[in-house]
Amino acid sequence: MNIYIDFDDVICETAKSFCQIADRLFGIKKPYNEVHFFNLQQSFGLTDNQYDALMKEGHLPEILLSYEETDGASISINKIVDAGHDVKIITGRPFDSYEPSRQWLDNHNLSRLPLYCVDKYGREIFNQNSTFNMTLNDLYAMSFDLAIEDSPAAFKHLEHFGNCKVAVFDRPWNKDAILPSDNYIRVKNWDQIVSLL
Ligand SMILES: [Mg+2]
Repeated sequence: MNIYIDFDDVICETAKSFCQIADRLFGIKKPYNEVHFFNLQQSFGLTDNQYDALMKEGHLPEILLSYEETDGASISINKIVDAGHDVKIITGRPFDSYEPSRQWLDNHNLSRLPLYCVDKYGREIFNQNSTFNMTLNDLYAMSFDLAIEDSPAAFKHLEHFGNCKVAVFDRPWNKDAILPSDNYIRVKNWDQIVSLL
């Protein structure tokens, strides 16, 4: 199987780190379970300037490297690779976050996994040309049998993969999301994802 795995809040606990950053920078105490929107500006009630500062801080290399691994992610992904599946990590992180993101994967025993940065959320203001970044059209030309995503904002991209199954990683900001088709199922943890294969 060709498998697409998202990075933030699928392999690591990004939103939990952003809750700490919002507290540290602005004194905003938002419990993780109350992060109801994928858009963190909306979830934390930030001004444009605060949101820019939050995103900048959250993408500093030392902060990216400090993100906690999601329970069981590394062991489960290695099991999936060992079973012969072709796995790619496809992140919407900014292109200039590639190096620390690559380092994080290597530090968590995921050095075999290729990582690609794709502008999933229309955040990049210019195109860069590297082996690790892709346009949306490059992404749409790829083929996947299973995608693991947490973000309802990314579902529209997955529709380009035809009959791809989608495991929606259960998070507070997607619990009320309408799943676009029967190909989508909600999963609570990595054990459940492994059992799908
Ligand atoms: Mg994500």
